[in-house]
Amino acid sequence: MEFKLDTRLWSTKARNLNPYVPGEQPKHDNLCKLNTNENPFPPSPKVAEAISEALSNQADQLRLYPAPESDDLKQALAEAYKLQVNQVFVGNGSDEVLALVFASFFLKERPLLSPDISYSFYPVYADTFGVELVNIPLREDFSIETNDYRQPCSGIIIANPNAPTGILLSLEAIDKLATEHPNAVVVIDEAYIDFADQAEVSAISLIDKHDNLLVTQTFSKSRSLAGLRVGMAFGNPSLIEALTRMKNSFNSYPLDRLAQAGALASVKDAAYFEETCQKVIELRQQLISDLSELGFSVLPSQANFVFARPEQGDAGEIAQALREQGVIVRYFNQPRISDYLRITVGTAEQNKRLIDALKQRVSA
Ligand code: PMP
Repeated sequence: MEFKLDTRLWSTKARNLNPYVPGEQPKHDNLCKLNTNENPFPPSPKVAEAISEALSNQADQLRLYPAPESDDLKQALAEAYKLQVNQVFVGNGSDEVLALVFASFFLKERPLLSPDISYSFYPVYADTFGVELVNIPLREDFSIETNDYRQPCSGIIIANPNAPTGILLSLEAIDKLATEHPNAVVVIDEAYIDFADQAEVSAISLIDKHDNLLVTQTFSKSRSLAGLRVGMAFGNPSLIEALTRMKNSFNSYPLDRLAQAGALASVKDAAYFEETCQKVIELRQQLISDLSELGFSVLPSQANFVFARPEQGDAGEIAQALREQGVIVRYFNQPRISDYLRITVGTAEQNKRLIDALKQRVSA
């Protein structure tokens, strides 16, 4: 029998929601999956060891609720990023952290400013939490013009590097935005920052200077743990306290015991983390040069994906042709970017599979 949606008991609020559609997670794994910016390398082996330990020797503890404030993990993050523990917040993936950010800081009365091309969850959260979102157009070359943000607002949210462009905003620009908006919360979503060529580009270095600056990051990309769902925020203790109050009003145990154990082990294995980021950075350079040779224009990405425009042919059709050959990339059918493909940096083998599939199409 055909399922028919019955919305009689839905509130208007639920009816009016326009939810985010996550990138496709196909069921069979012979596909070359370059569509959702996961890390192609496994997490640190220490993560599996810590989770196995929690599941074997400490299995009895699963009866008990986890540490509500994930204290050990926050302590390890504070040490790794040279912060105080009261400057650190963790949640169930940075998507949840961002939801709490929207619920805590942004208002109906004064808009939230964000680039017109950015992470597509921001408009969904704005809708869900009744925040007025004003999109500020990126320049022609997809970079951010900070002067365009000179208007009254309750907040600014920028992904840095931006998604899906991969373009990095400088620390000077972030410093300027935070200085010019002392009464707004400036959120820098650094989901991909660890893949930047230069170290020291994270806005974490500015949080002691600006009490209105909040930086979010995630274990999903550079730490290869998208499946564990751990994200974090760094900022002034009073911003962190606001997030904690909001968290405790929704879900006081966002991180389960296994996620806390695994994430803690990942933070402690700094050498593995750095090595993996470096490998992805090198593979990105190779991918950019291979795509350029095939006639793609590729934006200067500092993330673990590239945003590339084919010289010839329709981007949507190319994405479809790749899919028929078992390679999935992301195509956005939306103004200004409908002639681009977003391609996650894979292993050398995956990138080769992509390039070979593209070459076949060119020579066909
Ligand atoms: N911010 C940006 C810019 C992203 O692309 C993503 C991943 N889709 C996230 C945040 C959320 O990542 P997660 O919830 O896995 O931490």
